[in-house]
Parts: sequence; C-alpha cells; structure tokens
Amino acid sequence: MPLIVQKFGGTSVADPKKILAAARKAVRAHQEGSQVVVVVSAMGKNTDGLIDLAKQITDKPAAREMDMLLSTGEQVTIALMAMAVDSMGYDAISLTGGQIGIKTDSSHTKARIHSIATDRIKRLLDDGKIVIAAGFQGIDEELNITTLGRGGSDTTAVSLAAVLGADQCEIYTDVDGIYTTDPRKLPDAKRVSQVCYDEMLELASLGAGVMHSRSIEFGKKFNVPIHVRSSMSDEPGSLIVDVADTSDLPVSGVALTRDEALVTIVDVPDVSGTIFKLFAPIAEKKITVDMIVQNVSANGKTDISFTLPTEELADALEAIEEVLETLGGRVGLKDESVSKVSAVGLGMAQQTGVANRMFRSLADAGVNLQIITTSEIKISVLVKRDIAMEALRTIHSEFALDQIEYSPNANVTTSERSTEDAEKVVEVINRLQQSGMEALMIDSISLDSTQSRITLQKIPNQPGLAANLFERIAKAGVFVDMIVQSHGSDQNADITFTVKRDQSAIALEVAQAICDEASCAGVDHKEEIAKLSVTGIGLRSHTGVAIALFQSLAQAGINVEMVNTSEVQVNVVVAGADGNKGLEKLKDAFADSLR
Ligand code: ASP
Ligand code: MG
Repeated sequence: MPLIVQKFGGTSVADPKKILAAARKAVRAHQEGSQVVVVVSAMGKNTDGLIDLAKQITDKPAAREMDMLLSTGEQVTIALMAMAVDSMGYDAISLTGGQIGIKTDSSHTKARIHSIATDRIKRLLDDGKIVIAAGFQGIDEELNITTLGRGGSDTTAVSLAAVLGADQCEIYTDVDGIYTTDPRKLPDAKRVSQVCYDEMLELASLGAGVMHSRSIEFGKKFNVPIHVRSSMSDEPGSLIVDVADTSDLPVSGVALTRDEALVTIVDVPDVSGTIFKLFAPIAEKKITVDMIVQNVSANGKTDISFTLPTEELADALEAIEEVLETLGGRVGLKDESVSKVSAVGLGMAQQTGVANRMFRSLADAGVNLQIITTSEIKISVLVKRDIAMEALRTIHSEFALDQIEYSPNANVTTSERSTEDAEKVVEVINRLQQSGMEALMIDSISLDSTQSRITLQKIPNQPGLAANLFERIAKAGVFVDMIVQSHGSDQNADITFTVKRDQSAIALEVAQAICDEASCAGVDHKEEIAKLSVTGIGLRSHTGVAIALFQSLAQAGINVEMVNTSEVQVNVVVAGADGNKGLEKLKDAFADSLR
C-alpha cells in the first residue's frame, strides 16, 4: 500500500475553512488507497503571535519555556485537523512530537532530531487511521518539549517520510512550486517541474526560502521525493529529487542574498594556521561566515576576504580584534553595501565556459564583481547592493531561465519506492544510530593532485576583468576548475584559478598577456598543488565543519592557499607536497562522520 506524508504550512491551515480543505486532501488520498500521515504547522502567524506574547513578559525568556509555549501552536492545529477528518466520516488521531517519539537533542529552540519511533504510527496506519502529526516539535532525553527552529515543520514532514519509507512527501504551501528565482523579486521567474536536492540545498541557503533547508538534507540522505505544491488547487507543483529533468542545464536557478557585508583582512602572514586562528573566534560566537576567499599575494603575506550577514558584522569584527593583534594583519576593507548573487546548476560540473558566460553577461550589463567563488555546481559573485537586482536579472536571462517550460507530467506519477530505496533508508539509519539522524554525514574526502594554480596579483578591478580573462582562457581550450577573486583595500583585485597541469602552460601565457595589458603586479604560479575536497550532507548547517578542517590542517603544519565552501562541498588548495598528508589528516578529523 502506498504511504504518503502531506504537510500543510501555516497559511494552508490559517482558518477553519482551510483546515477543512486540507482535511479533504488527506481524506482523498486515503480514499485513493494510500496510508496518510498529515503534518501541520501552527495556524497562520500563530507562532509569531506566541513569540510576541513572550516578549511582552520578558526580554530574555528561557529557551525551554519558549519551546513549551511555541509547541502549543501546532497542538491546536492537530486537534482541529483530526476533528475535521473525523467530521468527514474517517478515522483520525492527532499526535504530538512526544507522542510519536520524535527524540531530539536538548538545544531548545533549535533542536536537532536524533531518532524517530515508527511503531505507533505504523500500527495506527495499519488500523486504517489517518495520522495527524504536530510539526516543528520533539522531546529530549528528559521528555522536555523541544522545537526545531523556525520553519521546522518541513523537517518534521520529510524526516517522518524518511523513517516510514513514504513514497512521497507532499509539501502544501501558498506557492505552487519552486521557481528559477524568487518570483517576488523577479516576475520573469519560471516554475520548474523538478529540481535536485543539491541545487535546492544550495538555493535554500541562498535565500530562495521555500523550504527549511534541514528538510532537504533529510530528503537527500534518505532519498525522499519531495513534492512542493499549492494547497489551493490540485495542480502538481515541483518535485525535489536526486536527479532532475533539468540536471543537464548549466544553470537552473539564481538567487540573491541582499544584506551581506564584506570584510577583507590584509597583510596576514601566509603560514599554516592563519586561517584557523582567524575564523575560530568567529565560529565560537556562532556567526556563520558565508563566502571565504583567500588569495596568494606577495612577500609571504596574504589577504583573506569573507562575507557574512550585515547584522553580524560588528560582532565578527570584535571577535577577531585580539587575534589580529597577535597574528599581524589588519582590516583593510569593510563594506556593508554588498549583495551576493549565485547561479546554481548540476550541469555546470560537466560543461566548460559557464563561468565566463556569466561574467561576460555581467560585464556587458556594467556590473563590477567584488568577489568571486566557484564550487562544482555554484558560482557566486559579490556586487554592490544597488546593482544586485540588475545582476540577478542579467544572469537569469543569460541562461534563458525565463524560457523554461513547466512540464506537469514529470510529477504526476506517485510510484511506490523501490526496495533498493528501502534498503538505503535502513542503511543510513543504522549508520546514524549513535550520532543521530541529523548528524553530519561525510560521503567522501578526496585528493586531486593533477592541477596547477595561477594567480594574477593586484589587477585593476573594472567590469569585464573576469569576463576577459576567462573568455580568453576558454578560447585557448583550457578547462578552469576553481576560481576565486578577492578584493583588497584598494581598487585592485587578486584572481586565482586552477587548471589541469597539462594545460597550465597555455593558461599561464594568457594570464601573463592579460597582466601585461592591464598592468597588474605580477603572475604567481604553482605547478604542483593539491586540492582536498570534503563532500557530504550538512556541511553548512553544522557550522563547525570548515573550522574542523582548517584546524586539522593547521595541526599538521599545512598551509591553506585557497578555500571555497558550499552546502555540499568544502575545497581547499594546499601545496602539492602536502596533499597526501592533508588527506590522511582530514580522514582522521572526520572519521566519525565518514561512511
Ligand atoms: N510554526 C513554526 C514556525 O512558524 C514551524 C513551521 O511553521 O514550520 O516557524
Ligand atoms: Mg515554512
């Protein structure tokens, strides 16, 4: 018998009429022969209202009591939903997180799911009941009520779908699917029929904001198909899967993060441990740094740039004040008026020329790039905030995302999941028994010793710089892997990129020619580098990963020359001779999380 999890968000259960409409969907699925679990959020803006109440009592409510309070929102909805189903002549039973047995850790207001008991739900389903589960909540070891963080009902739904081996998890919401970019920002945005977990993970943190990103981590870990659709109609929406029908597109989505701040630390010694010492105090304050760019620069000194949410800038600067004193180096630049624009596409991992096409379109639109970082499936640029919308629009139309056609047929099949999938679920649950379902899961740690690094130092930064460079390199037939551009305290930029070693001579020639034309300070080149990559699920939501990586390399005396981080992968470049040692160190550091 197929099993389906349906989740209804706050707007979809905002009043009794909507609750009845949602109940009808559940009943219909039941009539059609599925076992049905319904997960609900609090009604409308009820959670905001509860937070507001607490604030009227005190500025500093205890986190445990906050959870006690907030969990009541969902409890109201489950009871009403069960009554609604009952009124239609079907059997329903409402269950709180504790009654289901959703065990979490004890970090109140941002708890992570440790394990979920399935026996009771399964028994009730087998008895023919529609099970109504409260989203967003669980209990810890001591039976304290916990909540999963704002928007956490998505995570409840997908995690329940995972452990129950559901055939699909439907997320009913007030939008009709997932778009190529946020349609409120760009009316040209098009709805997609499918998108894959990795793209969604990158986009969720990039501000598309449709889903709680931890729910996508669950989807990917347990291979749960997630169907995001409108609660107002019966039309299919967008399916989040492992490999999507758009997976060969170079770019399938673009996102804008508006309020970023940029900091460049200049003149820090380019030795092992620098990057760890710099970021450790920031991580300690639980501030998540977004883009990190380190460039090789002259005379043993390096510049490190990073971005973070504007509101965290002051705290982060305060955190590193002391380290800078002992370390040497100073804040060369801080800019609170920048935004990040990112393009994501599974297809770009297989195609050449995606980056230079993006840079060219931005140059033609007059957009200057402050910072660039690339990962396998994402290219991010930092631009001045007043032209960020223009940058978003430009990339969106350059990659013809406004032409994407929605094909509903892709999503109407609700086939039962294969036994192979069921085995995967069991395997992952066993693997995560000790550490918990939401633990960091590293899939691979790898070493690539086939590349060279080329750096253009202190090149005047104008629109078209990156476009020109990477166009000419592409024309010479060279495939570029990592690209980072940083922005120093002056009008100059450093651009570093990596290429296969057998192509480094040609790439170097082009770089030298451009350096001469633009009068840059020089071209630095290292023939033998090692690229170390850590790939897995939860790399960003578990904020300590990059730090643990920096730390283990620092302890081994290995200097980090280049860094880029994304949701699904962290890459660092070190000297070629350090490659094997670095690989061993990273395997040790992540032994507990490695498959
Ligand atoms: N009610 C909670 C919130 O508003 C959880 C959710 O809706 O997902 O954040
Ligand atoms: Mg939500």
